[in-house]
Amino acid sequence: MNSRKPQQDIPNLLTSQDGATTAGTELSNWTTTLAGCTEVCSQKSEKGLKQLKQKKCKVCKTLFTPNKPLQAVCSVQCAVGIAEKKKALEHAKERRETAKADKVKREKLKTRSEYVQEAQYEFNRYIRLRDKGKGCISCGTDCGATAIGGSGDAGHFRSRGSAPHLRFDERNCHLQCKKCNRYLAGNVANYRIGLIERIGLKAVEELESDQTPAKRSIADLQFIKSVFKIKYKELEKSNG
Ligand SMILES: [Zn+2]
Ligand SMILES: [Zn+2]
Repeated sequence: MNSRKPQQDIPNLLTSQDGATTAGTELSNWTTTLAGCTEVCSQKSEKGLKQLKQKKCKVCKTLFTPNKPLQAVCSVQCAVGIAEKKKALEHAKERRETAKADKVKREKLKTRSEYVQEAQYEFNRYIRLRDKGKGCISCGTDCGATAIGGSGDAGHFRSRGSAPHLRFDERNCHLQCKKCNRYLAGNVANYRIGLIERIGLKAVEELESDQTPAKRSIADLQFIKSVFKIKYKELEKSNG
């Protein structure tokens, strides 16, 4: 069943029983009605067109009169511009998402020792800044003046190898010249003298007798890394 009803009765020329004359009249009547309708419709749309206010083109920002209510750009050129902009934004988003996924992947692949290295980097950097200007703890050489990226090392009193539980202990690590740290095996005897001056004999003896086993999870290492990163930034800020 055809439920669509024509708004205007279209003359059925084929089944008209009154012959060609009636059919001709009906056709001409209908054509007149149709012409009237077209006129009204076009008036309507012209009226609608006039109602559209000027707006600013989204791309070139000049004022224009839109042909359609949702038209956002003034020209084909600007439409291409907006499409390219959209494309660029989409690409940027894709790149960001890929980078994020890669980072997650890298984090998953990271070994425990890499987490230790990262935490150690932040810790050592903080120690070098903390001791800036103090000189080598073992020999007094002025390595502190160029501590940042300079000649000073963050030297551990009890070495990271033999006392891994103290590798992030601030009492156990001080600015030291490269010579003492790397070529004189830490210059430990003189380190001890310098260390007593800085933190006192009691604290030094506590360090020497500390045998607490080191049990650090990945989360602990990430935490240590973030703590020393923050401490470094705060110290840098307060140093001016
Ligand atoms: Zn434009
Ligand atoms: Zn030294």
